[in-house]
Amino acid sequence: MAKYTEPVCRLCRREGQKLFLKGDRCYTNKCAIDRRSYAPGMHGQNRGKKPSDYGIQLREKQKARRIYGVLEKQFRGYFAKAARQQGMTGENLLRLLERRLDNVVYRLGFAGSRPEARQFVTHGHITVNGKRVDIASYLVSVGEVISIKESSRDNNRIKEMTETLKDRAVPAWLSLDVNTISGTVIHMPSREDIQIPIEEHLIVEKYSR
Ligand code: SF4
Repeated sequence: MAKYTEPVCRLCRREGQKLFLKGDRCYTNKCAIDRRSYAPGMHGQNRGKKPSDYGIQLREKQKARRIYGVLEKQFRGYFAKAARQQGMTGENLLRLLERRLDNVVYRLGFAGSRPEARQFVTHGHITVNGKRVDIASYLVSVGEVISIKESSRDNNRIKEMTETLKDRAVPAWLSLDVNTISGTVIHMPSREDIQIPIEEHLIVEKYSR
């Protein structure tokens, strides 16, 4: 666990803001970015140079990739798909990322962070319409019901999360039923529903170069 902690927090420090990758820890004074708000590495405190336009666009793309925990190749695939869809490419991109099953599990409050949600999915704890789905990149659709597998509800960490569900707010495109521990996709997320600190037009500009 200790091995995993530092690199994840380094990603936030590299982007210069909280990406909320460590669950509850991100809201405590143990958060690395609160203690060392400069970039990691030898020259982290001496990066005074103004970034280029390309540098700014690159950082925005990296930030989005890191928030959703998506690899470079996969991210490019999402962008290509978003560009083929009707409407604004940047919004389409965020909508695709937001529909990922691991993100939905996190948004519903079943997990404390997206990395933890991904672990729950890949370990087979999550069902969609009653069937186990262990693919974190699965894209949810309107009407689908996301839940925690009956036999997984005794898992200590899952129990801890589900006990606090009633205090959690979920985004408008999802609904949460605390009694059945399940969430339903009401409609596709709009840009206003996606609360992340990303300026998606910078990502579009980067890929349009
Ligand atoms: Fe680490 Fe979370 Fe703070 Fe990021 S926000 S530095 S992941 S504790």
